[in-house]
Formats: sequence, structure tokens, C-alpha cells
Amino acid sequence: MQGDPAPAQNVVIVGGGFGGLYTALALAEHRKHPPVLLIEPNDRFLFLPLLYELLSGELRSWEIAPRYDSLLAGRGVAWLQDRVDRIDAEAQRVHTAGGRSLPYGRLVVATGAESNTFAVPGADRHSLGFRSLADVERIQSLMADLKAHPRPLQRIAVVGAGPTGVELACKLADMAAGSAVIELIEQGPQLLSQARAFNREQAALALQRRDVRLRTRTQVEAVGAETITLGCHPEGDTAPHSETMAVRAVLWTAGLGFRPPRIDPAPACDGRGRLLCGPDLRLHSHPHLFAAGDLAAPFDPDAVPGEADGSASPATAQVAFQQAPVLADNLIRSLRGEPLQPFRWNDLGEMMSLGIGEASLTAAGVTLAGPAAYQLRRLAYLTRLPGRSHQLRVAAGWLADWTP
Ligand SMILES: Cc1cc2nc3c(=O)[nH]c(=O)nc-3n(C[C@H](O)[C@H](O)[C@H](O)COP(=O)(O)OP(=O)(O)OC[C@H]3O[C@@H](n4cnc5c(N)ncnc54)[C@H](O)[C@@H]3O)c2cc1C
Repeated sequence: MQGDPAPAQNVVIVGGGFGGLYTALALAEHRKHPPVLLIEPNDRFLFLPLLYELLSGELRSWEIAPRYDSLLAGRGVAWLQDRVDRIDAEAQRVHTAGGRSLPYGRLVVATGAESNTFAVPGADRHSLGFRSLADVERIQSLMADLKAHPRPLQRIAVVGAGPTGVELACKLADMAAGSAVIELIEQGPQLLSQARAFNREQAALALQRRDVRLRTRTQVEAVGAETITLGCHPEGDTAPHSETMAVRAVLWTAGLGFRPPRIDPAPACDGRGRLLCGPDLRLHSHPHLFAAGDLAAPFDPDAVPGEADGSASPATAQVAFQQAPVLADNLIRSLRGEPLQPFRWNDLGEMMSLGIGEASLTAAGVTLAGPAAYQLRRLAYLTRLPGRSHQLRVAAGWLADWTP
């Protein structure tokens, strides 16, 4: 007589961004790790915090976008270039767009976030994003075109004065070198509402020096092929009014949306569509599923109010990077039936790129701005690039370029 088949003992990771790839690499560090499969549709990992430097040509694409096959070679992690369409949590199988159906023992969902245009008319159709290599190429050819065919009063609108909008506006202003005016549109009363005061002040100065026009209390009402319509809500007694401006392009950086693959049965999510999980990153509703990165919404129903339970961690690479070793450990513990450990986020500070060759940072009680901060930021990110051999290759390239 045959019994039930033994439960699968492998780990499948869906999404090869900061949460997924770094968890795979952390699993590979364990001496006796289970079989690991990473499913990711792109052939290259993208180190998003350095995307601005790729745009401006300060860094090269092989440096910030290494290939998965070379990152994972010899590490005991398999990579499948495919997209997961559906996760069957009862049968413990993933189904891919390429038609595969694969079993898992434990599964990590790390499909990240996408930009959210909040159903503003025309925004999806007419605005550009800033999250991928294709976005960088589109913006580079736009900038080349602006310079090659100058027109009077050319404008580029950047929507959202969070970190991405501010950093992008500074780089674009430097790249445009006077050939276009950069308008930075923010619906709130100030730029960088979540940032440290020092970085916010440095960012405001960097924008002023580059003549970037910051419009706060301004909502985008519609985006057309070469126009943007704004609803302005000034402070005080001035009545709200609408204005339509001619623009060469609209770059949308405001807001995040979450669209993980379909999971059956449907898991518990927060109001933004992120997967609710415990402080150990295991989904509340599915004991074999874990979440990582932007998509994870850690929430501890038993936490004492006011005490850290992981739920206050922001959607950043820094958080995903710190989650990876804890999650890798928990995946192995979970397969062995051992108790899991909670993830606690340690806020290491904040760094911002503020134009070509400049940055601002606040970390460990130190504040620094200008070219020195730019070099420190680059060095800090060098140590965060995935895999020691890739870090060494990039460091060697920088040394070769260095002219004292
Ligand atoms: C321009 C920019 C600059 C940033 N700068 C900083 C910074 O300076 N500091 C910082 O801490 N954070 C920064 N962030 C935020 C940071 O990049 C994210 O928090 C981080 O990437 C989150 O990691 P993740 O794994 O959740 O998602 P991601 O890194 O976005 O990875 C998700 C992966 O999942 C894959 N995927 C999606 N759907 C599927 C599917 N169905 N099947 C298989 N794979 C799928 C995607 O292709 C992608 O590779 C920046 C973000 C952007 C866009």
C-alpha cells in the first residue's frame, strides 16, 4: 500500500528583486540549504537606487544590472526565466505564464511594487515611468531629442516630490543643461514629507540651484500627449484653480501599486493590496507562504501598541536587504518544523542623489552633502551590490576609471 507522497522540501522564490534575489543569496550561504528556485521574467537584476546614475551616464548598465545567470552561477540556486501567474496554496504549486506547474515546500512572494497613477485620466497612456532599463532608455532618448531639437520654453513635468521625483528632477536638470525647464509637481504641502530634515533642506537647495520649479499643493488632473492639467490648491484665501501646461514629457513617480500573482485561496491583504504577514514574514493565512520586500506588510496582532513589530518599515531596498537573511533562516526553520524568528528593521539612515556628482546623506548621527556625500553613497552601495564577485568587478572598473 502506498502512502501520501512526501511533502516537497524545496524553496521557490517568486521575483528576483531586492527581496527575492537577496533571500536566494542568503539561502545559498547556508551550508546545507534546501533546493532553491528563483522565478523571475527579466534576465538582469536591477539595483534601483543607482538608476539615476545609469540615466545620467555616471554608471554603466552592467554595473547596476548584472545578469542572473552570472550572479547565481555555482551557488546552488536555479533560475527560471518566467512569470508566475497563479499560486495554488492548497496543492503547493506555482503556475507560470510559460505553462509550467511546479511544486514547492515553502514559497516566497517578492514581486515588489509598480507605479500607481491613481486612475488620473491619460496618465497611464501618456506618462513615462522610472523603474526599468527600458524607462531609462526612453528618457535618455527624450533628453537627446530635447537637446538636438531645442524649442523655446520646453518643459518636463515630474510628478511626485518623494525621493524618486526629487532625485530624478535634479539629474534631469543637470542633463538638460538649460535646454528644458523641469517642473516638479507635488500634491502635499512640501517635498520629501517622510525624509530627514537635513536631506529635505539639501534637496530644496539642490532644486533651487538647478531652477527646478517645485509646485506644492498641486494635483495632476489629466495628462495629454503633450499637456498636463493641474489643480492648484494654494494655502490661505486664494481660490483653487486649474491650469493646463504644454510639456514635452510627463514622468510619473508618485505612488505605489501592488499586483502580486493570483493566490488561491485569496490571502489576507492590507488596504493597499500588500500581503499581511507576521513579524516572521509568514503569511497570516497561508503557513507555507512568506512575503518579502515592498509587498510584505508585517503586522503582529499581539504586539504591544508603540513597540516595534516590523509594521512601520517603509517600502525600501534597505528593508528588503535586511529581511533577506532573517527570511532565509525562517524558511529553513520552517522546513525543519522549528520556531521562526521575528524580523526587526534597523533604520540605518537615508541617502539621496542630488544631481550629477552630488548627494546628501544622514546616517549614524552624521550629515553630509555635496561631492563627498556622492562618493560615500557610491561606496555604501558598492557593498550592497549582489554577490562578492560582482562587487569586485565593479570596484575594479571604478579604480580603472579613477584619475587622481
Ligand atoms: C528609481 C528608484 C529608486 C529607488 N531608490 C532607493 C534607494 O535609494 N534606497 C532604498 O532603500 N530604496 C530605493 N528604492 C526602493 C527599492 O528599490 C524597493 O523598495 C525594492 O526594490 C523592493 O524590493 P522588492 O524585492 O520588493 O521589489 P523589486 O526590487 O521591485 O523586485 C520585484 C521583482 O519581481 C519580479 N516580478 C514581478 N511580478 C512577477 C511575477 N508575476 N512572477 C515573477 N517575477 C515577478 C519583477 O520583475 C522584479 O524583478 C527605489 C525605487 C526606485 C523605483
